[in-house]
Amino acid sequence: MLEQTGIPTMSDVNAVLPSPVRLTQGPIAILECFQNIPCNPCADACPQGAISIGNDINQRPILDETKCNGCGVCLTSCPGIAIFVVDYAFSESHAMVKLPYEYSPLPENGQIVNALNRQGETVAGVQVKRVQLNKNKTAVVWLAVPKALAMVVRGIAIAKEDCQYE
Ligand code: SF4
Ligand code: SF4
Repeated sequence: MLEQTGIPTMSDVNAVLPSPVRLTQGPIAILECFQNIPCNPCADACPQGAISIGNDINQRPILDETKCNGCGVCLTSCPGIAIFVVDYAFSESHAMVKLPYEYSPLPENGQIVNALNRQGETVAGVQVKRVQLNKNKTAVVWLAVPKALAMVVRGIAIAKEDCQYE
């Protein structure tokens, strides 16, 4: 349970996912923001006006899937590291998963890294397709992830001694 562990379950995640049809149509933000806290940078940052918080800043953000184009601007503005972008249309076998990343060192383009689930467990070896640097120092790591794991992979480990897939 989220309340007991701080880790969202797939049931929590499924409740905030865009529609299955929209998920097939290209990149879209996944707002994994599950607590009622006074926070709204994501809504302010979105150039498409796709995120709304409502009149009470403690309400959780809601995504308008018809407006979101998956640009990822909200991802880098979220202090809670709670936003991801997923693109199931990336290739036949893989989705592109974009993660906020605030550790050092950064991974490198092309590197195979351990893909972690929300519990921090390694679930696969995946390739880094791009490391996007941003002025606010929240980097975005683009990963090619097997489609079956696109809603599972939410972190990476790059230390060589930890990597089971090199
Ligand atoms: S990915 Fe871009 S368009 Fe979609 S909600 Fe975030 S900032 Fe808005
Ligand atoms: S910025 Fe992040 S933590 Fe704050 S409301 Fe938006 S998704 Fe939640």
